[in-house]
Amino acid sequence: MDITKYNKIVLFTGAGMSAESGVPTYRGSGGIWHKYNWEEYACQDAFDRDPKKVLDFHELRRKSVLECKPHDGHKFITKLQNSHDNIIVVTQNIDGMHQRAGTDNVVELHGSLWRLRCDNCGITNNDIGETFVNTKCKCGNYLRPDITWFDDMLNSNVIQQASDVIQKCDLFISIGTSGIVWPAAGFPQEAKSNGAFCIEINTERTELSYIYDKVIIGKAGEIGEYLLK
Ligand code: NAD
Ligand code: ZN
Repeated sequence: MDITKYNKIVLFTGAGMSAESGVPTYRGSGGIWHKYNWEEYACQDAFDRDPKKVLDFHELRRKSVLECKPHDGHKFITKLQNSHDNIIVVTQNIDGMHQRAGTDNVVELHGSLWRLRCDNCGITNNDIGETFVNTKCKCGNYLRPDITWFDDMLNSNVIQQASDVIQKCDLFISIGTSGIVWPAAGFPQEAKSNGAFCIEINTERTELSYIYDKVIIGKAGEIGEYLLK
């Protein structure tokens, strides 16, 4: 198919995109929530109880992400973006792998491991080293990772931004997402209802496969081959 004939393309990515680079998933076998109890490491209550323990855990996750490299699928998206206007990535991942592959215009639905924020002052700091450069705000509070933890509200501005581009796209391609986590789970239907051609790429069928115009059973690293064939 010739995807370059479409004007506005949204690539919607999930944990499967990064899993192919070796970033651990959350729930599947080998998922980090089998090893770590999220109530101790990934919610506001845990942070309020013991910020240092929660920050140390996130530092470990940053290190494990840095050991992984973007794969050919990430690079394909960057190449596509360099030769085509209006390519936007909407991702559920917090690991920054798309950006490390050189992709711009990434809407991060669940925030970023590479950003910290102070809810007291309403500021966010980019912090991209292997270890956190600064864990305390000027006001004296610990800074928290700017990601969506369990029990957190989603950032409504970011969801709106994603929804806006999805409603306007004419090609919607989902890669490596199970489609069960809301509101992201509603995006394929949103794209479809607005007339976009919808493609799903996943190593297996999902609960949402029935919505898509084309379902490709395949790997995130090989999307270039599927989409240009
Ligand atoms: P998910 O774990 O629910 O689903 C992952 C999907 O990827 C599955 O359907 C699986 O079949 C597919 N998959 C696995 N390997 C693949 C490969 N090599 N190529 C193509 N597909 C592959 O993940 P989700 O849908 O993203 O939802 C999980 C939630 O957890 C999200 O909210 C996300 O924020 C979060 N999460 C983020 C990261 C990360 O930042 N890397 C990792 C795990 C989970
Ligand atoms: Zn502050």
